[in-house]
Amino acid sequence: MNVVTDRLYEITPEAEAREHGGARVRIVRAGWFRPDAGGFFGVVPKPLWSRLVEADERGRILCRLNLLLVESGGKRVLVETGTGERMRDKDRDIKGIEGGNPAVALKAGGVDPDSIDFVIVSHLHYDHAGGMVGTDGRPLFARARYVVQREEAIAARGDELRLQGIMETEQLELVRAAGQLAEVHGEVDIVPGVTVLPTGGHTRGSQAVLIGEPGSGSEAGPRSRAVFFGDLIPTRWQLPVRWTSAFDDYPVDAVEIRQQLLTRAIDGDWWCYFTHDPGALPLQLERTEKGAVAVRASSAGL
Ligand SMILES: [Zn+2]
Repeated sequence: MNVVTDRLYEITPEAEAREHGGARVRIVRAGWFRPDAGGFFGVVPKPLWSRLVEADERGRILCRLNLLLVESGGKRVLVETGTGERMRDKDRDIKGIEGGNPAVALKAGGVDPDSIDFVIVSHLHYDHAGGMVGTDGRPLFARARYVVQREEAIAARGDELRLQGIMETEQLELVRAAGQLAEVHGEVDIVPGVTVLPTGGHTRGSQAVLIGEPGSGSEAGPRSRAVFFGDLIPTRWQLPVRWTSAFDDYPVDAVEIRQQLLTRAIDGDWWCYFTHDPGALPLQLERTEKGAVAVRASSAGL
């Protein structure tokens, strides 16, 4: 497999962390993967998506595994765990995975994985929950509580044929057995300024993460809030609200909640972090004259 020239693991330098309402955010680039373009863009015809991004010779799109390291209230929160390294070589090859180990990614940036207090997992697909546990079956973050929506955990243990084999159920149970699983229900503050927000749509129990409290930071500077969408909006290419992916289990819901969250993000000048976007982040959004959602040209990411 061709190895891309960019570095495998990268973290935003500490001095360049973004502040969102008192929470400091650094992007952890935990490697690369290549989802199938047809699946990734779902209902969208190739003539439309191919204007935005090129597929490789196997019909795949080069994407990043973006995690967030958030520091707030004296606690450290990791958002997402990447693919991890438990997958068979054949599957790693098909999915074009390079790297994927969230603990190695943190260490590469000088961050001790044992310093993580909470790990928020947006949903239980392999590229978000695959790195909850190491190849030895132990949680990669020894001190952390792993935050998953209860609905997602129930779906992973259920008997729906569509879900069997695509949820990281075994990893979920290993985390539970280690006493480190925190199933939450609904919108919950994990630490001050870091809130999980159930969205559904992509999977039954998908959750987004809101960072920074509204109104805070007004003394020090302008209000700043950020959002991490999980796979509800995996890259800037999926900003058109009806562009549902074939991986969205509940596409009708996904379109509705995407519309709601994008409206809040535009109206509130939120900074947006995209979990699979290979470009500079975060970005702010705006509505065009035709009513479409677009990246605000003046927003400069890291
Ligand atoms: Zn994903």
